[in-house]
Amino acid sequence: MKDSFERNISYLRLSVTSRCSLNCIYCTAGASDCCRCPDELSADEILEIARGAALAGFTKIRLTGGEPLIRGDITKICREIHKISQIKELCLTTNGIGLAPAAHDLRDSGVSRVNISIDSADPAVLRRITGRSCLNDVVAGIEAAVSAGFESVKLNAVLLKGVNDDVQSIRQLAGFVQKYPVDLRFIELMPVKKKGFSFSSYFSGSDAVLRALPDLEMISPQGFNEGVADMYRLPGACGRIGIISPVTACFCRSCCRMRVTSDGKLRPCLLRNEEFSIRGLNAGAVADEIRRAVFKKPSGHDLSPGTVCLRNASDHETADACGLEMQRIGG
Ligand code: SAM
Repeated sequence: MKDSFERNISYLRLSVTSRCSLNCIYCTAGASDCCRCPDELSADEILEIARGAALAGFTKIRLTGGEPLIRGDITKICREIHKISQIKELCLTTNGIGLAPAAHDLRDSGVSRVNISIDSADPAVLRRITGRSCLNDVVAGIEAAVSAGFESVKLNAVLLKGVNDDVQSIRQLAGFVQKYPVDLRFIELMPVKKKGFSFSSYFSGSDAVLRALPDLEMISPQGFNEGVADMYRLPGACGRIGIISPVTACFCRSCCRMRVTSDGKLRPCLLRNEEFSIRGLNAGAVADEIRRAVFKKPSGHDLSPGTVCLRNASDHETADACGLEMQRIGG
């Protein structure tokens, strides 16, 4: 369906849990995979929301979190969403831990695309970022995803100043697209609500990637085939490189997304705090709320008190004060 700025809004990102098996320094989730969160949507509630989204004309759903693979019922949820005929693309974003044993089941359950977060190819640096020794598990997850035959496997790496934004780290990560038929997207850090986390200390602009990989050849700018990423070819590689720059190059004009948080709130814009509760509604009522919220989707985010967009370095202090609850929203 069209919003008031003539954008075609067809993509729902659904956070199925706020729990995560990692404790990334830039994300709000803390390692907490042992118990169910009291306000987490149930499988039935998730399915009702997916059906509502389909009624409202949405064709793509991405399950995210927190870590979606923490949920014991995740394959069942995927299988049921896959049965909704209007949903043409079912995607999942994961930290890759637990993906190796689950990849084939997820593919069989109708998941067509998988995004895997991996912020470093160096085991010690990845441990520093995530709080856990996990490189081997994540690489096993990437290999399993490739072998399971998903239509696309993308790797996401958040750039962090002084941690993984140096030439060697970026080239090491680029090694994945030389080895596997996957796309690797570098993502600029966004502000998060996390005690002790300083956005301004860690933010690194995506131009670091272009400096580290001078051979990159632009295929398509953001807003074209690949949505929010500028896409590049790396000569000799089987996969491609993408650069997502929410901070230094706003992509609101091509935004086609709505989000549902892990506690059932509809969120028209990642970087604005406006939310509408859709918990407990049947699919028809969910569709009505989605239509209303799409109509209210802002043209873009801006930097006023209570919002968190950044246009220049002087805005970073504001960002530190009012960042996102990333795991509840799902990125
Ligand atoms: N657990 C899954 C994962 O690790 O991919 C899904 C949830 S995670 C919140 C979804 C995406 O958001 C990941 O690619 C992650 O790197 C990204 N993300 C989390 N915090 C971020 C931040 N502060 N800035 C930019 N991206 C962030």
